[in-house]
Amino acid sequence: MTALFVSDLHIDADRPHVLQGLNDLIEREAPSADALYILGDLVEVWIGDDDDSETAEAVRDALSRAARLCPLRIMHGNRDFLFGQRFARDVGGELIEDPHIAEIDGQRVLLTHGDALCTEDTAYQLARQLFRSEAWQKDILGKSLEERRELARQMRQESRRANANKPENIMDVTPHEVAALMRRTGCKTLIHGHTHRPGMHDVRLGDKVGTRYVLGDWDRCGWFIRFDKAPELACFPL
Ligand code: MN
Repeated sequence: MTALFVSDLHIDADRPHVLQGLNDLIEREAPSADALYILGDLVEVWIGDDDDSETAEAVRDALSRAARLCPLRIMHGNRDFLFGQRFARDVGGELIEDPHIAEIDGQRVLLTHGDALCTEDTAYQLARQLFRSEAWQKDILGKSLEERRELARQMRQESRRANANKPENIMDVTPHEVAALMRRTGCKTLIHGHTHRPGMHDVRLGDKVGTRYVLGDWDRCGWFIRFDKAPELACFPL
C-alpha cells in the first residue's frame, strides 16, 4: 500500500505555480497511490464552501482529479478550517478529524496538522479555540462573500503582525506534547506539517523510539511524503 501526504501548500491567486505543482504531483503520483492525505493549509485562506472565486474553483478541480485517481482525505489546517461537508462532496473526498490515526501497511500512523502541538503559543491556542467553535463559524458563514473576503484580509494581516514578534521556539511543536500524544494513541510514527520545518526527528517513548516526520511548506519546492512500507520525505522543484 502506498499513501501520499502533503500539507501547507497555501494555494492562493498570487502563487499559480503552487497549484500547478499540485496538479503535477497528482498526475505523477496519484495513479499508483492508495490514498492521498492533505494534512491542512492546502489553501492560504478558505472563506466558505460557497466561494465562487477562480482560485476556489481551481482548487476544487485539482482535488476532483485526485479523487478520481485514489481516495482523498482532507484535514483542516489553521487557514482552511472552514472546509465543510459541501466542499468534501464537491471534490469527492472525505474530511478527517485532527488528530487522525491511519492504518498504512499494517502500521498505525498518527496524522495531525501540527498547530495543536504548538502549546507554548498560548495566544494562538486561544484564537484556535475561537476559530474552531461552532458559534463563531456560523456567524462568519452568515456573512456575505465580500464581507468574508475582507475579514480574511484583516485576519491575515493581524496574524503576520503577531507572528513577526514571536520567538522562534514557540512557533514550533512542544516536544513533551508530541511524546504524550504518540503514547496516548499508541503510534510510533507521526506525520504533521504547519511549522514549515521539514525534517525527521526521533521521539523517545519510554523504552521505544518513535519518529516524527514534518512536511514542508510549498514555495520553491513541493514537499510530500510517500509512504510505501516506510515514510519517505521528498520534494520537487516548483
Ligand atoms: Mn498551519
